[in-house]
Amino acid sequence: MRRPFIAGNWKLNNTIAETEELVSALLPRVGAVEDVDIVIAPSFLSLQAAVDSTRGSAVSVYAQNMHEKDAGAFTGEVSAPMLAEIDVAGVILGHSERRQYFGETDRALQAKVPRALEAGLVPVLCVGETEEERERGDTERKLRHQVQEGLEKVPVERLPEVVVAYEPIWAIGTGLTATPEQAQDAIAFVRALVQGFDKEAGNQVRILYGGSMKADNAAELLAQPDIDGGLIGGASLDAASFAAIVEAARS
Ligand code: PEP
Repeated sequence: MRRPFIAGNWKLNNTIAETEELVSALLPRVGAVEDVDIVIAPSFLSLQAAVDSTRGSAVSVYAQNMHEKDAGAFTGEVSAPMLAEIDVAGVILGHSERRQYFGETDRALQAKVPRALEAGLVPVLCVGETEEERERGDTERKLRHQVQEGLEKVPVERLPEVVVAYEPIWAIGTGLTATPEQAQDAIAFVRALVQGFDKEAGNQVRILYGGSMKADNAAELLAQPDIDGGLIGGASLDAASFAAIVEAARS
């Protein structure tokens, strides 16, 4: 049994005051849920406030990125030990917006994923194809490349701790959602790739769907056999919508 995992990627939204307000709205709804891993990922500046205000609840706080090096001349970056020091529990890595706008490479991710694990952070490795790649029939080739590069340096015994998020880029923030069948097919393919590293790890690893997941489409996506949860952007900024998705993951 893989435990459901629902994560809200807040992106570049919410000041510290707004973070505290959204957490206050979320906790009465999901703060005591015991059968789903619930994650929020605010901006770096709001992490400490989010950690403090969720302490003792079912909600964990993840960052949206980190650098692969612990320290050094890397202006503007934040490292794994810095996140772990303030009790951040995990980190989203390789989000398509990082890849598209900030030059995130598969090579950097190859170092980031194991570094996060070593520092005690759960890495959420994001993969997914563009619309053109899907139309060209290149979805599996893209996923194979991203999954193999991203997981290559992870020790096999730690693979089950990694979370993978399949996020078709054409569905992120567009209101377009992959059909449950498209999402299931791609996620089953990702699982087979992880099984290629280690059969049992592939059975255990949790794989999320991301791309315009909302309260009204979450249940049918989450009902698919290989979809273990969701990475949610827009709908995670509203406490009632996010809580409804958590509820869908419970049933
Ligand atoms: C995301 O940013 O990971 C995402 C899935 O966004 P949205 O839910 O807004 O499509």
